Amino acid sequence: MSSVVVLKTGEREVEKNIKKMFILAGGADRFIKKGDKVLIKPNCLNSKPSSTGCTTDLRIIEAVVKIVLKQGAIPIIAEASPISFDTTHIFRQLGIKKLAEKYNARLVDMNKYAFIKVKVENPVVLKKVAVSKLVFETDKIINLPVMKTHVLTTVSLGMKNLMGCVSGEQKLRLHEVGVCEGVVDICQIIKPAFTIIDGIIAMEGAGPSNGKPKRMNLLVGSDDVLAADIVACQIMGFNPHSMKFVKSAANHDIGEYELGKIKIIGASLSRVKSRFSFPRLNISRIAGTVLLKSFIPLIRASGIDVNKLAKRISESMRPHPEFLDNCKRCKRCVVNCPEKALVLDQHHHAKPKLDKKKCIKCYVCDEVCLYGAVKIKGSR
Ligand code: SF4
Ligand code: SF4
Repeated sequence: MSSVVVLKTGEREVEKNIKKMFILAGGADRFIKKGDKVLIKPNCLNSKPSSTGCTTDLRIIEAVVKIVLKQGAIPIIAEASPISFDTTHIFRQLGIKKLAEKYNARLVDMNKYAFIKVKVENPVVLKKVAVSKLVFETDKIINLPVMKTHVLTTVSLGMKNLMGCVSGEQKLRLHEVGVCEGVVDICQIIKPAFTIIDGIIAMEGAGPSNGKPKRMNLLVGSDDVLAADIVACQIMGFNPHSMKFVKSAANHDIGEYELGKIKIIGASLSRVKSRFSFPRLNISRIAGTVLLKSFIPLIRASGIDVNKLAKRISESMRPHPEFLDNCKRCKRCVVNCPEKALVLDQHHHAKPKLDKKKCIKCYVCDEVCLYGAVKIKGSR
């Protein structure tokens, strides 16, 4: 049986509640030993502050650093933001650099560190994953994601946050083969000792970068990353068992899948549940899937591959991104597009031009745009 700790927290009680979380989970000693090198992995997708629901609250990172030090262990704060973002600069803007200096903690921009290609034993979509060398040089990982919705995967929680330990090229490849499936392959290699989902200010709607902040004043923690994600889904008002990544993770021993086998410690779910607005884009996809399900026997009888058809229908129902006039020509979307479907003119006078034939509608362009200049029709 897995346990998940759920705690309400006031603004001034974050440190106290992070300590309480470890106590309720069985004590920090269970997860961090003296001398351990501990990789602390926040969500630093970009430089938007935690008040936007985009990045991890600094107070959570600080509280974890203090616990690691108290255990006589060595904290290392690390992140690899998407290509075209300078993680070192993000660390500075979010106040993480100052924090690391205050505690003499090592700070690693994993994009500037080495990556190692690791074989996935039981792959869903990726036979090999380019993982930061730091993951193998440290003894434990404390995973600090934010509670968010996501236009492609519906939610972005503990499992998805581990994508920040793989190379930029690998992230782009993931969008080509399927993020939900690829995340499960990553989680077969990267196994956090403890995950704390930051739900102080969460994000709803068109996440993971351009949704709306949602104050929840909540912390969700577990040594079982899948169980933590499942409980967070329930809190957000989503059915975890309808999530692609949850189903796939269950078949790959990532963690506990059965709701009846997950023990909730702390606040009761009924007290903290608050429905998150759905990334609207997904509603049409789900409607398409439901519609398709009613015709499954007929489709099977005609010899058509149902899964392939579902994928094609889902893709065709998603709109292409549009580029708005407030575009700052920063080029981030162009550099991060996995299909090279975007071009900026040589002198950056015009907004990006989209080649619809190349575009796979992965919406990485929206995820990396800091100016809300990418419009995905129906997502907000
Ligand atoms: S759409 Fe956004 S990311 Fe792309 S060039 Fe314009 S401002 Fe930059
Ligand atoms: S243009 Fe945007 S949605 Fe299309 S492939 Fe590139 S990043 Fe993905």
